[in-house]
Amino acid sequence: MTRYDAVVIGGGMAGLPLALKLGFKGRSVALIERDQLGGTCLNRGCIPTKTLIASARVAHLAREAAQWGIHAGPVRVSLPEVMRRKDDLVTSVRQGAEANVDRNSNVTLIRGEARFTGPHALDVNGESIEAPQVFINTGTRPAMPGIAGLEDVPFLDSTSALQLTELPGHLLVVGGGYIGVEYAQMYRRFGSEVTLVQRGPHLLSDEDEDIARALEHALTQEGITILTGATATAITDVAGQLRLTVRVGGAERVLEGSHLLIAGGRRPNTDALNLTAAGINVDDQGFIPVNDRLETNVAGIWALGDVRGGPMFTHTARDDARVVYENVTKNAGLSIRDRVVPYAVFSDPQLGRVGLTEGEARRLGYRVKVGRYDGHKIARARAMGETAGFIKIVADADTDRLLGAAVLLAEGAEIIHELITAMHLAAKYTDLRDMLHIHPTLAEGLSSALGVHAEEGI
Ligand SMILES: Cc1cc2nc3c(=O)[nH]c(=O)nc-3n(C[C@H](O)[C@H](O)[C@H](O)COP(=O)(O)OP(=O)(O)OC[C@H]3O[C@@H](n4cnc5c(N)ncnc54)[C@H](O)[C@@H]3O)c2cc1C
Repeated sequence: MTRYDAVVIGGGMAGLPLALKLGFKGRSVALIERDQLGGTCLNRGCIPTKTLIASARVAHLAREAAQWGIHAGPVRVSLPEVMRRKDDLVTSVRQGAEANVDRNSNVTLIRGEARFTGPHALDVNGESIEAPQVFINTGTRPAMPGIAGLEDVPFLDSTSALQLTELPGHLLVVGGGYIGVEYAQMYRRFGSEVTLVQRGPHLLSDEDEDIARALEHALTQEGITILTGATATAITDVAGQLRLTVRVGGAERVLEGSHLLIAGGRRPNTDALNLTAAGINVDDQGFIPVNDRLETNVAGIWALGDVRGGPMFTHTARDDARVVYENVTKNAGLSIRDRVVPYAVFSDPQLGRVGLTEGEARRLGYRVKVGRYDGHKIARARAMGETAGFIKIVADADTDRLLGAAVLLAEGAEIIHELITAMHLAAKYTDLRDMLHIHPTLAEGLSSALGVHAEEGI
């Protein structure tokens, strides 16, 4: 039995920084990782997808270059080279993470799968370890929908679709959340035919319909076929051609494609942990419920990142690590309760989103003011030739406090940070309206949405 001050299970976006910081603080830490350091984000999520999306954008711009008066010639996408560029970047970032762990003499990296044998005792590769503090950061993996015949056909998930070296002729994507949207546009820009099947009435189910429809329009303009209100029910492989049966509007349709990508949600990595030996509760989907200090029902055991359910992003996982670190080392009493959670969809136009949608705000009973400004009215967007999308800002009509915003625009994921800052500081929309925005920038559209010059503003 080896004893540590702390055990961190999973070297992902919360576990890795937490283990390093606890080690710097002088705590002895066992960091247990069954696969690669950096978890989903680095190895099969954020970083590889955004690297591939960057290549896809270059292909798109090269094809469309004549619009800017530039003649680039025929475009050829070399998927092996595109994938190599992505692999090189992922490897180099991962090597940086491994070096950080190596340099931290208080952190012992144990490669293997952790399994509880008691509340503060674990088994890894037959080795017994224990610690008074245990931090679970085991993340999630792709969930598979109930499509009849799925187990009998070759299909891709968000991980295997990052390894293709031959371009799909016709990619069928099931799932219109942010992962499905990003892959659909990326493969379309690489040169595939793409059909996107979404069960909900519009893409990005949690988003306001006007935002989702504007994104659908932009994707359709690029030649992506989108079926909404469509449920994939069955699939067969007929001599190498996939046939996907879809129920839409009460009727059945059969879609044909060369490849199928399932982009339909995530399930937690808790099944291998033997949580019952520790008495740790899970919900009906296997996520670990926590309080707003990320404590599980068992004293001295925390759950961080995706495995606790709730918002599942790298920035929320990293913030979990900050909250827990401050609490366990400084008794800081921090909580995740009131944090302002943003996210982005790295489509083109990008969607940067923070806070409540208009629909959520109304459902919660707020009297709302809504400011809106279209991309084609923003001088900088017109100069860039990238006018798709619009800005939408929602404020509380009684207090003028900002409630939420969506920036569906080129660089929307960057521009939204102005709104994130404002909401973090509990600002009023008038604070943003009355500050100077540089002309000509995309962010200038925010002041227009807030009513500086526009009839459409708040
Ligand atoms: C395709 C895709 C694109 C994404 N893009 C973005 C994005 O642009 N922005 C964003 O914010 N988020 C994005 N995400 C989400 C983001 O990747 C996750 O929210 C983030 O990685 C969660 O971090 P985590 O630390 O909770 O879990 P993970 O990063 O999944 O890490 C968990 C780690 O635990 C290890 N593990 C699991 N079980 C055990 C065990 N029993 N023993 C030992 N080790 C174990 C795993 O091997 C893994 O390394 C994306 C996700 C996907 C799939």
